[in-house]
Amino acid sequence: MGCRMGDGARFEGRMIRAAVLREVNRPLEIEELEIAEPGAGEVMVRLGASGTCHSDLHIINGEWAETRRPIVLGHEGAGEVVAVGPGVDRVGLGDHVALSWLPSCGRCRQCLAGRPQLCQKALETVHENLMPDGSSRLRSGDEPVSSMLTVGSLGEYTVVPENGAIRIDDSVPLDLAAVVGCAVATGVGAVLNTARIEAGQSVAVVGCGGVGISVVQGCTAMSAEPLIAIDANPEKLALAKRLGATHTVDATSVDAVEAVQEITGGGVDYAFEAIGLKATIEQAIAMLGPAGAAVLVGMPPDGTTAEIDPMTITSFEQRILGCIYGSCNPPVDFPRILGLHRRGRLDLDSIVSRRIPLEQVNEAFTAMAAGEGVRTVVVYE
Ligand SMILES: [Zn+2]
Ligand SMILES: [Zn+2]
Repeated sequence: MGCRMGDGARFEGRMIRAAVLREVNRPLEIEELEIAEPGAGEVMVRLGASGTCHSDLHIINGEWAETRRPIVLGHEGAGEVVAVGPGVDRVGLGDHVALSWLPSCGRCRQCLAGRPQLCQKALETVHENLMPDGSSRLRSGDEPVSSMLTVGSLGEYTVVPENGAIRIDDSVPLDLAAVVGCAVATGVGAVLNTARIEAGQSVAVVGCGGVGISVVQGCTAMSAEPLIAIDANPEKLALAKRLGATHTVDATSVDAVEAVQEITGGGVDYAFEAIGLKATIEQAIAMLGPAGAAVLVGMPPDGTTAEIDPMTITSFEQRILGCIYGSCNPPVDFPRILGLHRRGRLDLDSIVSRRIPLEQVNEAFTAMAAGEGVRTVVVYE
């Protein structure tokens, strides 16, 4: 699919600053881009904050090699609606919104079956980093610039489909609303929607970055026991403990699978894998007890494969569950997550480890590559 401007894109000279990836394995560059006015069914959002996610890093590192460039990365953002296109009725001027990177169509078979996270229409275009009509809303001179997953939140403004702009209460700080858009929706959704764990079930969480820490919090809200957090970074383990993990396992010093088998006396009911690596996926499956389920949440690099022991899976009726976007329906789940935060059941502040201006965005990815911090959030003035 070629990247074209599309009939819906009307450029009128409005310029924004954005972090653009032109070459893999190169720093993002802050550039001036032209942004189109919102077309039919689209809204323009002035970003207040944008998170940075491992999926952005996959693209920077060339691990998702087919991603078109130039591209504005960032796919968890929140801000204010500043312009609306014809026919928009879900949000209005001045509304605060958190952005969803799966603006489901509501009409396809998967949407109608209650699985908007698998929207066939969205899968065709969103993963091409284009709008639903197959075009982009940003350009550099005459060159189209795509927006990651239609969000492109590492820019001052973005134009998104209205069903990707989820209205939130004005009282929610935008930096916290931003991280709901990917990390928290994915992690908490994995617990509540994909796994649907029951109170008191046993859980292991492999990887305690932004998504994994959100899984830990979702499991704490469900009173998982034991709740075993596994990571290689002691600071992340300390945070997991503070957020409700009953046990922590430093994977650099012990065999994580043996540790989990020992703590539980035979394996967990659920193991959440929140990294996306062959080794940790295999570990998560090996941590399961009888009838246990491994929930694969982390997004692996292209070409990753993992080995399983089918005899064990068959004999013990274990399951492997895929999880995209926490199996979320954002218009339902974003307010639900923010409600849990308001009730003190989720601590969104703890997800945000650092706030930086857009100019320092590359520092966020340097820290992420080193396994440091939970979520670095870009805050706009
Ligand atoms: Zn993400
Ligand atoms: Zn759909």
